Amino acid sequence: MKKHFTDILIVGSGIAGLSLALKLKGIGEVTVLTKKRIFESATSLAQGGIACVMGENDSFDLHIKDTLIAGDGLCKKEVVELVVKTAPERIQDLVNWGVEFDRDPKDPSKFHLGLEGGHSRRRILHVGDYTGRAIANTLIERVLEEDYIKVLEHFLVVKLVKEDGLVRGALAVNLTNLEPEVFFSSVVVLCTGGVGKVYLYTSNPDTSTGDGIALAYDVGCRIANMEFIQFHPTCLYHPKAKNFLISEALRGEGAVLLNSEGKRFMQNYDPVRKELAPRDIVTRAIDMELKKTGGECVYLDITHLPSDYIKKRFPYIYETCLKFGIDITSQPIPVVPAAHYLCGGIVTNIWGQTDIPNLFAVGECACTGLHGANRLASNSLLEGLVFAHQASLKIRENWKELKKVKSESKSVYKFKFKEVKEEKVFVSHNWDVVRRIMWDFAGIVRSLRMLEVGKRKIDFIKEEVFSDWKDVCLDLDVEELKNIIQVAELIIACAEKRLESRGTHYLIDYPEKREEFLKDTFISKNI
Ligand SMILES: Cc1cc2nc3c(=O)[nH]c(=O)nc-3n(C[C@H](O)[C@H](O)[C@H](O)COP(=O)(O)OP(=O)(O)OC[C@H]3O[C@@H](n4cnc5c(N)ncnc54)[C@H](O)[C@@H]3O)c2cc1C
Repeated sequence: MKKHFTDILIVGSGIAGLSLALKLKGIGEVTVLTKKRIFESATSLAQGGIACVMGENDSFDLHIKDTLIAGDGLCKKEVVELVVKTAPERIQDLVNWGVEFDRDPKDPSKFHLGLEGGHSRRRILHVGDYTGRAIANTLIERVLEEDYIKVLEHFLVVKLVKEDGLVRGALAVNLTNLEPEVFFSSVVVLCTGGVGKVYLYTSNPDTSTGDGIALAYDVGCRIANMEFIQFHPTCLYHPKAKNFLISEALRGEGAVLLNSEGKRFMQNYDPVRKELAPRDIVTRAIDMELKKTGGECVYLDITHLPSDYIKKRFPYIYETCLKFGIDITSQPIPVVPAAHYLCGGIVTNIWGQTDIPNLFAVGECACTGLHGANRLASNSLLEGLVFAHQASLKIRENWKELKKVKSESKSVYKFKFKEVKEEKVFVSHNWDVVRRIMWDFAGIVRSLRMLEVGKRKIDFIKEEVFSDWKDVCLDLDVEELKNIIQVAELIIACAEKRLESRGTHYLIDYPEKREEFLKDTFISKNI
């Protein structure tokens, strides 16, 4: 097996992984492994923008308050304060790296600030409606300029190597030749993103299969709050549109939701905030309307705005919808909810450290306590940036000690490998079934009975998949299938523990919040 030695190993090339790599300059060699092309990530798909207090009538207190309200009693206040108060410095990092946020046309010395659901003020910095792509492209350019950073595309990390209570690196499959390769390092940072692909309908890219969560769980780290999956209320509903999100920012600009009978309905669910209510409320409202009317989708109508303004403010959404035959300047957009964001994940402290001191997790795969039971829109790119910075501070501070960890670990040679020769249908069938089970039994509205049935079905598939493919498989689809099964099991286990409805978790049997409630639904493997 091919061996590599590096100082710091980062898994993932979204905002968390790339900004962290840039922050580690001067420490040693940084290797970034990413399972597809460098730009393939949720980060590249982000549209709306990134939240930061900048407006004259805004304040840190208001952003903190909005985040805490969205988090529905489960945010860690000290984490929220850290993120909100350091946001301006992190935005400055992006600007220094070269991100050109849109300016206010009336006063170009200021940024143009968008408004999104749950925010009491305009505070969303954006680049048109393709903010994520603009940020990702800039970070990629900067990363590729640095000699100390090595980026390896098409490397799928499949196992963490652990020995004597520390991680020693990671085992990866080189997807270009289907050979295993091992990377020994002093520090490993998981920046592997979210879990949207566990669900049938998702806004997430194909890379979001929860790999980091499965990897960390496997080596004994605590995972928490997996029941809190945020469903985005508005993904384009069209047979040929794969996962295309219609940004919250449209509702910020006054777009209204209409049911299949052409009637506005949000006033019946949240009379004050209506379309600008937090995502979970809008999502459940749409779910209810679909069930009531039997419609396949609802509609988002922004036609009240001048056509030129729509084209300029939402060029990406305008162009994409037009490709599918929908002119958003004159027609309402057909939309459905879809799994969008994971609020829980690998438990980390304010330095991004997991339960294993030299294993860090940053970005959507981490559970920092920022989002609690529900994420406030546009706080997640910010979270990735802030905790990449925090992790870099901790790694720098402890580097003298950490660098002693790097050594070849024999434990990696215990893994066995298997080439997957079975017909692809064995894999694709189970992929579909897992995603359908999760959508039907652990989706937007849950019940204890649904969760129990879902668990049984997932257990059955797990038994089959993990016995057929118990070794490390030299195959992307099989390894990802194992990860979505693992993540599905964790989501159901957390959901079964939370006997109340809070944030994004809605349980028919307990439709209210409890006065005495679990702060976090921790799960870990006994090893
Ligand atoms: C459509 C869409 C719109 C969004 N809009 C916004 C927005 O406007 N504002 C906002 O704040 N947030 C938004 N979000 C959420 C936000 O984009 C993500 O939470 C954030 O980008 C996550 O960044 P990340 O670096 O943690 O993960 P990602 O950007 O998902 O990157 C994960 C990386 O890990 C790699 N990877 C995963 N597993 C492995 C493995 N086993 N081996 C090797 N590599 C691996 C992937 O290939 C990828 O490169 C949006 C999300 C989506 C899907």
